[in-house]
Amino acid sequence: MNRTLASEQATLELGAELGQRLARLERDNRNGLQIHLRGDLGAGKTTLVRGLLRSLGLSGPVKSPTYTLVEPYCVGGLNIYHFDLYRLGDPGELEFIGFSDYCHPGAVCCLEWPERGLGWLPPADVVIELWAGCDAHSARVAARSDQGRLLLPDPCLAD
Ligand code: ADP
Ligand code: MG
Repeated sequence: MNRTLASEQATLELGAELGQRLARLERDNRNGLQIHLRGDLGAGKTTLVRGLLRSLGLSGPVKSPTYTLVEPYCVGGLNIYHFDLYRLGDPGELEFIGFSDYCHPGAVCCLEWPERGLGWLPPADVVIELWAGCDAHSARVAARSDQGRLLLPDPCLAD
């Protein structure tokens, strides 16, 4: 699914759509659900996660986990882990932060810069690519598993 995101609000809404589907999903992935967010700095990755978390009832701030690598949330009965791997020096460092402990059944891992963890991450269920174009931001959302397919906004089911 491709979508033009005409404003920050549109990015928040796309995140909220995913969040609403997440709340209804029967999550049975052994490694937890893996959502990869790709795109340059400023493309809207953190904004989308903010929309997702708020749609599940989070009222506090959503900090960018650029320095902490991960921010955990327990919201709407879900364990959501927001990662930003931008500052990861080496994919092997994921072992030091105990990444596999976050990948438990029922968990939802949202990862910015998943390419920095290449080879050390479980397969993605959903890949979201974001761009900050000259005219407007845009997104492409693709499912990579049956669970991921259930998460996508309606037009994606036709893909
Ligand atoms: P990233 O996490 O990809 O580096 P952010 O989510 O921090 O990017 O967003 C960077 C900036 O872009 C923020 O100021 C945010 O408000 C803005 N932004 C997000 N989505 C849009 C959009 N669709 N149109 C315009 N600005 C946007
Ligand atoms: Mg970010």
